[in-house]
Amino acid sequence: MKVIVAKHAGFCFGVKRALDTVLKATEKGEPLYTLGPLIHNPQVVEKLRSIGVEVVQDVKDVKHGWIVMPSHGVPKEVTKAAKDAGLKIVDVTCPFVAKVHKRAESLSQMGFHVVVVGDPGHSEVKGILSAAGENATTVSTPEEANAVEWPERVGIVAQTTQVEGHLRAIVEIISKKTAEAQAFDTICYATRDRQQAVMELAPKVEALVVVGGRNSANTNRLREICESTNVPTYHIETADELQDEWFDGKQVVGLTAGASTPDWIIEAVKERLEGI
Ligand code: SF4
Repeated sequence: MKVIVAKHAGFCFGVKRALDTVLKATEKGEPLYTLGPLIHNPQVVEKLRSIGVEVVQDVKDVKHGWIVMPSHGVPKEVTKAAKDAGLKIVDVTCPFVAKVHKRAESLSQMGFHVVVVGDPGHSEVKGILSAAGENATTVSTPEEANAVEWPERVGIVAQTTQVEGHLRAIVEIISKKTAEAQAFDTICYATRDRQQAVMELAPKVEALVVVGGRNSANTNRLREICESTNVPTYHIETADELQDEWFDGKQVVGLTAGASTPDWIIEAVKERLEGI
């Protein structure tokens, strides 16, 4: 089969930066832990574990050494707890995520009720909510936005991996239901590029393969966009999951990957597809 790889796919700036920083930190020769997965890709997390970078779920699980705050950020209470416990911190929060924290904090300080458009319970969203303080809510669908009686002043930000049209729909609804709405499109350029690239690719192919962690928000958004084009879409984490019969009678397949999917996984999937 012919395989066309999307113009933008795979590792983004923030993920590369996080991995490089952690790999450098392993040279210190001291215990190194990441708080939750460093990035939402199980294969990369496993590779890191094989060189001694352990994943912990709570600051309390680390007695000494370095703790890494992941690229999608953490609530500020978590950073404080790590400092109070005397741990050394490697903070690889992506600058784009840090920017959303700042925006949420300043909106809250100006007296706005902060709305975070994003996946409830996702670690990035928890971090943004914490930056906004008590006066903040997550909204994940236009229906949810419609069901709430909003206060007079609402400030809206987005999880960096949201889809622009989805954000716009929610902003429109809230704007009609409040006296003053200030909205900030905080979707990062890497997300936008990957989403746009797959939209351009879809009309040229007979099937789409999305590679990335099932726990990766940006990969799941890519999958949803692919599905919305009505081109048969398959979301996999590794090449082993590909099934030949998915591509019966097909000549051209499109390939994209989430921002936390490394090149070696994309290459392996491409090779396997070309062999079908
Ligand atoms: S997807 Fe965007 S916000 Fe997230 S780590 Fe990559 S560059 Fe940063």
